[in-house]
Amino acid sequence: MVSFDRLYKDGHEEVIFFSDPSCGLKAIVAIHNTTLGPALGGTRMWNYASEEEALDDVLRLSKGMTYKNAVSGLNLGGGKAVIIGDPKEIKSEALFRSYGRFLESLNGRYITAEDVNIGVEDVEHIFTETNNVVGVAEIHGGSGNPSPYTARGVFRGMEAACMKVWGDRSPKGKVVALQGAGSVGRHLGEMLYKEGAKVVVCDISQSNIDLFLEKVPNAQVVGVDEIYDVDCDIYSPCALGATINDDTIDRLKCKVVAGAANNQLKEDRHGDILKEKGILYAPDYLINAGGVMNVSIEFEGWSAEKATRMVDTIYDTSLEIFNVSESENVAVYKATNIVAEKRIEAIKNIKGKYLGNLGHRFPGRKTRR
Ligand code: NAD
Repeated sequence: MVSFDRLYKDGHEEVIFFSDPSCGLKAIVAIHNTTLGPALGGTRMWNYASEEEALDDVLRLSKGMTYKNAVSGLNLGGGKAVIIGDPKEIKSEALFRSYGRFLESLNGRYITAEDVNIGVEDVEHIFTETNNVVGVAEIHGGSGNPSPYTARGVFRGMEAACMKVWGDRSPKGKVVALQGAGSVGRHLGEMLYKEGAKVVVCDISQSNIDLFLEKVPNAQVVGVDEIYDVDCDIYSPCALGATINDDTIDRLKCKVVAGAANNQLKEDRHGDILKEKGILYAPDYLINAGGVMNVSIEFEGWSAEKATRMVDTIYDTSLEIFNVSESENVAVYKATNIVAEKRIEAIKNIKGKYLGNLGHRFPGRKTRR
């Protein structure tokens, strides 16, 4: 259950439960840290086995967003939301509009976006009731589909890893084992193909493989379990999390791991093992941040040019993190946390200064003298 001990432990600022029996809404918003700005993170809809499981998920994911937004250079804090229930049964206009009205009451402390099982139509309903949602359709001045930007960011992170390991930024001539030919995998595959890399791909969906081959005609297709044994330079997980685990880690033949999937390390210790094996792990939550960077541009008026420029910063940030990992002799996942925490601390410190605008806050008041 939520307890202050628990919130103190991981540093969460606020947890809010939204309940509306009229439409079946059961939502939890967790605001982890707003030092850098309003908390931003998507809303996930999931048929959790228990409310406890939903709470665990939202607390874990909201903390992750603080780190992701911080290391990505965004002026945003970390937050996340979950809506409890089976998407096939509970989705309705009323539910999302009710949720939007609750979000509006937070006065911009939390801004939401799409996540698992939340689509563009759902976002439209939320957007009917609140401005505090991003990832809205381009027709409303939003940023549309984030996947091309996520893929671009992964490509930049991969380039940084190539520079660090082989002294050449381009993945040209490298063999990339790509797990997942979905939205991000397809765009990434196309960029790799155009750059002259050799792509080996797998997917559980034949139709996604077919679409992939239209973009990457010379790709080699392997079975979903074979992908870990491919003799490759780069392993790129773009399907699901926790694929670097006790069963797979000794099978990997790559020198670099760089992909879009969230939480690629099953446990942190797998990041330490990668380091011991001399495999460079590009930090997942940085190099897949193209999507969140893209939606964040909506605050200032989205344009493809601005989004592209921001996503391209992932190259330099990744290199910085690889260098911290080397100089501090720590695994990349630890170095990424160090860089994120340093930025939060530095910005917290400059906010300690009084800005001298007290007079504006009390219009019409007279001094006692
Ligand atoms: P997607 O659903 O479009 O694609 C995932 C693909 O993986 C699908 O083609 C699916 O069939 C395949 N797949 C599922 N299980 C598999 C398995 N065991 N082996 C091989 N393939 C399998 O999702 P996406 O938008 O391309 O995202 C890919 C990953 O990147 C996800 O983990 C997602 O959470 C993460 N991510 C995506 C974005 C984004 O902007 N789309 C942003 C950040 C992170």
